[in-house]
Amino acid sequence: MDQYTFFILLSPFAIATASVVAFYCWRHRSSETARALAACLTSAVAYLFINDLELVTTAPDGKLFFAQVCYLCISLLTVNWMAFALAFSNREKVLKSPYFRLLWIIPALTIGLVFTNSYHHLIWKDIFFLPVNHGYLYFRVVAYGSWFWVFWFHSYFLILAGAVLIIWNSLSSQRTLPMRTRLTLAGALLPLVINLIYVLRLIPGFYKDYSPLAYAFSGILFAISIYRFQLLELPMLGRSILIDNMSDGMLTLDSAMRVADLNPAANRIFVDAAQPAPRIGVPFPLLSNYIRQFDARPQSDLLENEIVFTQAGEKVYYDLQIRRLYDPNRSEVIGYLISLHAVTEHKKLLEAARKLAMEDALTGVFNRRHFIELAHDELAQSRSKPVYFSILMIDIDFFKTVNDTLGHIGGDQVLHAFAQRLRMLLRSTDVIGRIGGDEFIVMLPDTSLDNARLLAERLCARVAEKPIETEDYGAFSITISIGVSECSTKYSKTLEPAIALADKGLFQAKDLGRNRVRIYDVALQSQR
Ligand code: GH3
Ligand code: MG
Repeated sequence: MDQYTFFILLSPFAIATASVVAFYCWRHRSSETARALAACLTSAVAYLFINDLELVTTAPDGKLFFAQVCYLCISLLTVNWMAFALAFSNREKVLKSPYFRLLWIIPALTIGLVFTNSYHHLIWKDIFFLPVNHGYLYFRVVAYGSWFWVFWFHSYFLILAGAVLIIWNSLSSQRTLPMRTRLTLAGALLPLVINLIYVLRLIPGFYKDYSPLAYAFSGILFAISIYRFQLLELPMLGRSILIDNMSDGMLTLDSAMRVADLNPAANRIFVDAAQPAPRIGVPFPLLSNYIRQFDARPQSDLLENEIVFTQAGEKVYYDLQIRRLYDPNRSEVIGYLISLHAVTEHKKLLEAARKLAMEDALTGVFNRRHFIELAHDELAQSRSKPVYFSILMIDIDFFKTVNDTLGHIGGDQVLHAFAQRLRMLLRSTDVIGRIGGDEFIVMLPDTSLDNARLLAERLCARVAEKPIETEDYGAFSITISIGVSECSTKYSKTLEPAIALADKGLFQAKDLGRNRVRIYDVALQSQR
């Protein structure tokens, strides 16, 4: 099949498809790009159709007429192509400026000259018609006039500049799907390459200009690129806007620890924390330890850790999460996705809540509930070893008189200072709790009853010999009474009996005149 027949056979398909696509673009004409593409496609269809008519017309006059109309189509096509390129690359301003209309001067003059060629021969100096393909098709052999070259350069400038604009735009847009970039590049290059093949006679023996077909197909490729893939790009665009605006730091490293991408929050986190800020393309060793840890556990998909920076002298905490990024076949790790979520405030709140749940607000020693929990924990260790400890139940003598003398706030300060004194007089391993009011409880780990009594007596003496120093109410002398008991897993697995005994000892100490230590004495109790 010769080049002309093939062209004519392919044309109806191209005309039909391009017309449908042009109609579709026209239906979406609210966008400048769609309008320009519709115009471009319509000119391509017209060019193709007239070119077909020119080819199949055998009468020289008719053939010449269609050749003249072809110039009109080429003019429309090249200017519309430029308009589409400007709209596609978001340069609507240029498109709407009055200067854009100047592009019509040369085509308009050319069209005038084409139809009056017989008077001046500025377009064609000479035209011949030769039969090809068994005589039913002809082609023109033309000697071009001088204006033809003006038009030729103008047309090629528009085609080339339009293609460059489109190619530049699609290569510089980072958020474009690869498939869309490919379609756009193919759409821009197709007419250019086909034109060059024809003009420069790059394929020996190939002499038919296929560019009308190339324009039609190029328009179809653009329509697919815009209407099929622009929609697909939307979620991608949405995601990247989301990532750019989120407060969590997001960082992508390649397998060589080089930064592939990072959001503004990641940059801020590292700059604020006086760490070397990550830079795209540059290795970022700060997190390599964590990634090494993660690589040591290839079966897990996520590494979670806490990372601490010092920022203006204060510690700032981040939850660090690392995930692997695989190639599309999931056969090879090509990088890591790292997120940093600020947890300093959260940690402070948690710490405050934890303290609140454990501590007595007035004295800073453990509250009753937490003290009992700790004592139970201690007893629970008896599964691995026998456990014993002693309990001191301490109550301030005549505390009501403290309140009566200093007032309630003064009384509070005495309670606070007394708790501090207890802490100083006891060992760091001893656990102090406030039972309520002026009553405290102490757990003395690994301490026998005898030793506990000695310690309690020393405590009593020390408290009595030196007045308690309050913050605002001066010094105040107090005494304390203490009940002592022992808790050993040899006899009981629970705490309650030991507490009850210490309580009873305390009662006896009070009964016997206060400022003393008692181990609960059953005989003494029965005498009373
Ligand atoms: P006793 O020697 O028998 O212990 O006499 P007491 O006056 O200390 O009597 P008791 O221990 O029964 O009473 C303690 C008093 O402590 C009762 C209450 O008014 C006071 N109190 C309880 N909680 C607080 C507190 O948080 N702050 C102050 N300032 N006083 C308290
Ligand atoms: Mg008391």
